[in-house]
Parts: sequence; structure tokens; C-alpha cells
Amino acid sequence: MEEEKLYELWLSIKEKVFNDLDQQSLELWISPISFKGCKENTVILSVPNKYFSNWLITNNYLDKIQTMFSEQLGRPIEISFEYQQQLPSQLETEKIEYEYIPEKTFILQETFNPDYTFENFITDESNRFAKAVCETAAKQPGTAYNPIFIYAPVGLGKTHLLHAVGNKMLELSKKFRIAYITADKFVSDYITAIQKNSLDAFRSKFQNAVALLLDDVQFLIGKEKSQEEFFHIFNILFDNKKQIIITSDRKPQDLKGIEERVISRFEWGVIADIGRPSFELRLAILKHKAQKQQIYVPEDVLRYIAENITENIRRLEGAFINVVTKSLTENIPLTIDNVKEILKNFIEPKPQPVDINRIIEVVAEEFKLTQKELLSKKRSEMLALPRQFGMYLAKVLTDLSYSEISEHFSRKDHTTSYHAYLKIKKLISTNPYYAQIVNRMIEKIKSKS
Ligand code: ADP
Ligand code: MG
Repeated sequence: MEEEKLYELWLSIKEKVFNDLDQQSLELWISPISFKGCKENTVILSVPNKYFSNWLITNNYLDKIQTMFSEQLGRPIEISFEYQQQLPSQLETEKIEYEYIPEKTFILQETFNPDYTFENFITDESNRFAKAVCETAAKQPGTAYNPIFIYAPVGLGKTHLLHAVGNKMLELSKKFRIAYITADKFVSDYITAIQKNSLDAFRSKFQNAVALLLDDVQFLIGKEKSQEEFFHIFNILFDNKKQIIITSDRKPQDLKGIEERVISRFEWGVIADIGRPSFELRLAILKHKAQKQQIYVPEDVLRYIAENITENIRRLEGAFINVVTKSLTENIPLTIDNVKEILKNFIEPKPQPVDINRIIEVVAEEFKLTQKELLSKKRSEMLALPRQFGMYLAKVLTDLSYSEISEHFSRKDHTTSYHAYLKIKKLISTNPYYAQIVNRMIEKIKSKS
């Protein structure tokens, strides 16, 4: 069969095999797979990395694809994978051979929060991947994704996801021993164990678990002895193919004060971040909450809350609860005006406008010029480009008009800054090197202004 026909066959098989998946999963898992061709009796699929092939296998899709190809071509067909990225060799788990250990349930915490489930975790692009890997890990601990390292600023669902893993694992088997612990409790339990001379008991608790869920690993910063202990426990669990999930408020490489060898362990596996939630996600979370609690809240009120509380889902929920309780207990109708009043203290202050002098200072610093040079009338190329960056940043970060910006840069004509803005905008959208420079300067400007 010629290539083109085979490709069409793949498209029709793909459509049938994955028709039970929702749009999000299709985008996450299926769109990155491409058809490479067929050599004799082997169909080759190209996937980003081993996680993808493992996912196809553990969800029985591979079997289905294989059967359909065999049927259509009238001979037994094998499927093989070509990987677009190589993963660290430790992760090349050849076979999924995990066995559940029938032991008593054990949690280093009273219990998992029953509301923190995967069902209650709403997704958009910002958190979809983090949820997907956690869910797979909960269903097949220690196989495809291990360790998992999740990082995000506060209030974006890290703890929720860890509890969801715990809840899901217990749902699958009550006999699981799961070690969920925050890093600060790890440190204090470890210290107690030393004082009470009960290190063995401390260790064996962890070593007998099928999963270690360590929350807020940044609390290990600067705690050398605790890190050493954790490193030891990590290695034992990892070698025994136990699932490890770690959360952090920053990337592994930004965990200054945690030993290099510990950080490199985190980098062995999947690293997933949770980004800022979109407006749609914030609104969807509020709607989900209202529905679960069977409270009617008008759509415009939900939108108002979602529009004004943008950074942190914990605060978003806080605002929602505040509005709902106040309205119920004091019998206040849920109009926008009333809600505004209730949320007065909740709404984030508008971002501080940036001072143009700060922009000039940072741009000069970035390009190793003096401010005088930057603002001079000289037209040399060496000065022109930095100046244009400055004007661009002024347009993006301040409320100044083009003529005001031109004036600040000793230019009379407002079109100078207008052209500068357009030029840099184009430059950064086509050249990541410049985009990086701009981002770096913005960060600097905002951090000290
Ligand atoms: P973190 O541990 O990252 O600081 P949490 O997991 O404590 O954040 O989340 C804060 C609150 O926001 C929790 O009540 C959690 O249920 C909720 N939350 C966070 N992300 C989501 C989400 N995607 N869907 C629903 N609720 C969420
Ligand atoms: Mg947390």
C-alpha cells in the first residue's frame, strides 16, 4: 500500500480509536502523535517521548490501533515508536510491572481532604498537564511518570492535586500506604525522631509506602540534614519503583539552598508547572463551586469576581465564600453594587504604574550605556536600538502617550516612539533572543520600581 493510503488509514483509525476522548485530552495526548510510515509489518508512530507511548499502552489504545491496522491490511501488524525527545535513561522503564502491595492504609496525615479530587479540579491550558500526569500516576503509581515535580506560586492547586492523588489511590485500593507530608512537617518529624532516638521508625514509615507525596519542598531549603534524609528515602522509594510526587513554589533549578544532587533527582522525571489561571478557568471554578453548593449566584456576579481576583484560586474561593455568606446571613441581594461593596477589601490593587525613569535606568544598564548616552540625540545604531527598546517598554508599561514618550527620549516627534514601538514589537515576535531581553528588562523594572 502506498504511503498516502496508509496515512489516510491512520487518520481513520485515529478517529475511531480516540473517539471517547474529550477535546482537552485529544490536544494533550493525540495531536503530538504523528504517523511515520510502515516498514513491512511494522507501523511507526512518532511521539514526543516515552510518556506518550506509555500512555497509549496503559490506556489500551495501542492494542486497538494494532488490531485495526491488522484488520485493514489483512496481516498481523506491529506498532513501533520513534521518539522526538530523549529522556534521561533512568526513566526508560522498559515494562510496566507494578504490583500493588497489600498493606494497611497509612497516611502521614489525618486524612485527605475529600473535596480535593480530580473531579473537582477544573482545567485550562495552565494546569492541564499537571493534572494529567498526577491522574496517571494515581492510577498507575510508579510507572510512566516518576518522579513528578509540580511547581506553581501559592494558591494554584498544588496541594489539591496531591490530595487528589491520595484520594484516587485510596479509592482504587484501601490498602495503599501513602505517605503525604509537607516538607516542613518532614523536617520537624525528622528532628523529633532524632531526639527520641527513633529514626528507624521514621524511615520505615516512608519506606513502606507505595507513594510519597511531598508538599512544598522549598521548606527543605537550608535544612541540610533533613535533605540528606530525604535524599536517602527518595532513592530507596525510587529504586523500588514507588511513585514520588513533589510540589514546590519554584522550579527545581531555582531551589537555591537545596543540594545539587537532590535537585538533579527532581529533574529525572516529569516537571509540570501550573501557570496563572485564565479568566475562563476562574469563572468555571466559581460556577462549579456554586453548583456543588447548590447556591444560585447570578452570572454577572460570578464574572465580576472572576474578573477582579486573578492571581490566586484560594483568594478567588475566599471572595466567593465571602460574598455568598454575607448575602445569606445579612439577606443582601446579589447585585453587582452590593458585591463590589462586600469585596472592597478583596480586590487586588491595580498594578502600580511604572516610572519611566526606572525604564530608562534599566535599559541603560542592560545595554551598558550611560543614561546620558541613551537619551542623547546621537543617531548611531549602537544607541538607536536600545533607545527603541526603551520607548517600546514605556508604551507597554506606562500610560504615557507617544508624544510624551518621544519627549522623554529627547525626540520631538511622536512618530519616533510610535515607530520604535512597532519595530520592537515585530522584532520580539519573530526573534526569541530579543523577546528574552525584553522580558528580562520588564522583570527588572517591576522588581525594583
Ligand atoms: P497551593 O497548594 O498551590 O498553594 P491549593 O491546592 O491549596 O494551592 O489550592 C488553593 C485552593 O484553590 C484550594 O481550595 C483548591 O481546591 C482550589 N483550587 C486550586 N486549583 C483549582 C482548580 N484547578 N480547580 C478547582 N479548585 C482549585
Ligand atoms: Mg499547598
